[in-house]
Amino acid sequence: MMNIILIAPPAAGKGTQAKLISEKYNIPHISTGDLLRDEIKKETTLGLKLKEIMDKGDLIDDATILNLLKKRLSSSDCSNGYILDGYPRNISQAIEYEKLINKLNRDIGKVIYFDIDKTLALKRTISRIVCPDCGTSYNLLVDDLRPKKDGVCDKCGCYLKARDDDNEKVFLNRFETFITKTNSLKDFYQRKGILYIINIDKNKSVNDIFNEIIEVLES
Ligand code: AMP
Repeated sequence: MMNIILIAPPAAGKGTQAKLISEKYNIPHISTGDLLRDEIKKETTLGLKLKEIMDKGDLIDDATILNLLKKRLSSSDCSNGYILDGYPRNISQAIEYEKLINKLNRDIGKVIYFDIDKTLALKRTISRIVCPDCGTSYNLLVDDLRPKKDGVCDKCGCYLKARDDDNEKVFLNRFETFITKTNSLKDFYQRKGILYIINIDKNKSVNDIFNEIIEVLES
């Protein structure tokens, strides 16, 4: 069983790496951001409330996230492991998560922390475009992540657009939220001896970073 938690500020590349890990090890990629965006797409009352909070770059309340996650982790495709992208985001989520996996008799696995400079994260955030239909993410700043045809999704041919929360103002709030609420998870997991740090810099390709992650996972 391979359980992995990815922790990173916005636009550090955790979604991209999670997809690669998912393909290599054949385990599901569970992004709480994607679970929330799916809820928004359904245009339910809950979805509208979530959108308002996410568009400002604030965190959704712990109970709502835990509910979505519990449902997802109970699926049979999670029995051989999974990659958690975007969860936990604060210490109380980390504590709730431990209770949940203890109940499910699962191992916490490895935690990979992406360390990225704020200026680079901002540049990447405002250069990110996503497919509103299939959710594939592209980045005009990263060589390997540009779409083959300008503005069009390689996978489904839809027109690409920026996420509503990928602008400078919201980025600054999301980054601040990361520093004040999420970053304490670094010490939390370091103390448990399961934290691995990957440094992200502009000279590393997607593949370079992926190879570093494989080394961690297979060590
Ligand atoms: P992401 O796709 O990981 O960048 O997440 C996008 C947005 O979804 C975040 O800015 C939060 O508003 C919300 N979100 C995702 N995961 C969580 C979480 N674990 N706890 C609270 N809010 C979350």
